[in-house]
Amino acid sequence: MEYRKDDIVMLCIDDMGVDGEGIGKIDGFPFFVKDAVVGDRVEAKVVKVKRGYAYARLMRVIEPSPNRTEPKCPYHRQCGGCQIQALDYTAQLAYKENKVRNNLIRIGGFSGELLDQVMEPVVGMEEPFYYRNKAQFPIGVDREGRLVTGFYAGRTHSIIPNTDCALGVKENRVILEILLDYMKKYAVTAYNEKTGEGLVRHILIRKGFASGELMVCVVINGDRLPQEDRLVDALSTVKGMTSISVNVNKENTNVIMGKKCRTIWGQDTISDVLSGITFSISPLSFYQVNPVQTEKLYGIALDYAGLTGTETVWDLYCGIGTISLFMAKRARQVYGVEVVEQAIRDARSNAERNGIANAAFYVGKAEEVLPKLYEEAGICADVICVDPPRKGCDETCLETIVKMAPRRIVYVSCDSATLARDLKYLCAHGYELRRVRAVDMFPQTVSVETVCLLSNLRMG
Ligand code: SAH
Repeated sequence: MEYRKDDIVMLCIDDMGVDGEGIGKIDGFPFFVKDAVVGDRVEAKVVKVKRGYAYARLMRVIEPSPNRTEPKCPYHRQCGGCQIQALDYTAQLAYKENKVRNNLIRIGGFSGELLDQVMEPVVGMEEPFYYRNKAQFPIGVDREGRLVTGFYAGRTHSIIPNTDCALGVKENRVILEILLDYMKKYAVTAYNEKTGEGLVRHILIRKGFASGELMVCVVINGDRLPQEDRLVDALSTVKGMTSISVNVNKENTNVIMGKKCRTIWGQDTISDVLSGITFSISPLSFYQVNPVQTEKLYGIALDYAGLTGTETVWDLYCGIGTISLFMAKRARQVYGVEVVEQAIRDARSNAERNGIANAAFYVGKAEEVLPKLYEEAGICADVICVDPPRKGCDETCLETIVKMAPRRIVYVSCDSATLARDLKYLCAHGYELRRVRAVDMFPQTVSVETVCLLSNLRMG
């Protein structure tokens, strides 16, 4: 049967795609339906027909899935942030575990039997809301020209006004209202992506869950905020406020933060504590957004590293040195590599602050620093940990890792597709996949973090 736009179809949703869309088939022909969850019976309207599949819009849930739950946030369908809030949490965890497994099979070429042996149960959260320590809110105007802030609607840059996100901290709302009030009072303009005019682009809010310290960084298309002191007066009264800064971003780009930050009140960094280690965090440094799960994630990475105190460990993509410092306590020496200079400055001060003397850090790209040091200084490693961004490791980096031939590789990944690709490479070059565990760092969303242990076949 040929399907056309606007056709109405009845579907039993029996699977979910990588972006959280429900999938239902008619005679083997799949329809992708956003907001439908596995187990639903739905009526949907065809919006686009492609070769071999179609997209349809959810019109009515005829019979809800037993896995459906009442979403907390009224904007969950429009907002691009939470794709699977309507799925109950146990089913979310199963979905994520399955996503990792499927990618390892489909992209990594691993067998289901092997994965049955090496995959350990997914690590979920007890309270899967209000877990984020960081939020970046875009500032804009609505159709009537009023200032708004909130979140981008899925796949767009139109702002859904919402200052009360169910994943974030309660201070977000207070801080956003202060910023909007200040902007109205002093006629400060919002940045317009289309024209490149206007001043305020984004506001970054970060909170140290253990320290209670708050950081606000206002991203602007200019060098100064007018009446900066007035904004500072209001923001500095918020309990826990520790650092207020301005970030300059004059580029016409989707990248939120520019390269330059200027502290306008308080300290340059805030601190947070994970498993007894204190970390300083700058506005530009990466820091895991879910501290409760981060402790579990790093704990698994540490366990997988199997350290006894004698090892040389490399932590590639080390950020502010979080994993490095976790490992340093159990290793002889740790070396961290990270491309963001400010993060390396944080990493060094974090080592010092915690009295950790056996961790050293290098600024640069892992795929450049590691081969260079390998060739020039003949560096070696017993354990290499990698925690790359979504795009995974550069092949030059993997190539050098293989040459260095560590006994164990611990791979921490936020994208199981690139993880699977990289594991395939490592397993074709003398490594064996020994343990895999998914950790849910981002409840209500389709993202999933994974930790893997690989061991060197020649060393057992
Ligand atoms: N392990 C850290 C950071 C992980 S996020 C933590 O858990 O906190 C990934 C980090 O890799 C970011 O800090 C990013 O700045 C850095 N990065 C991105 N590309 C890189 C590259 N090519 N080489 C080294 N670091 C890189």
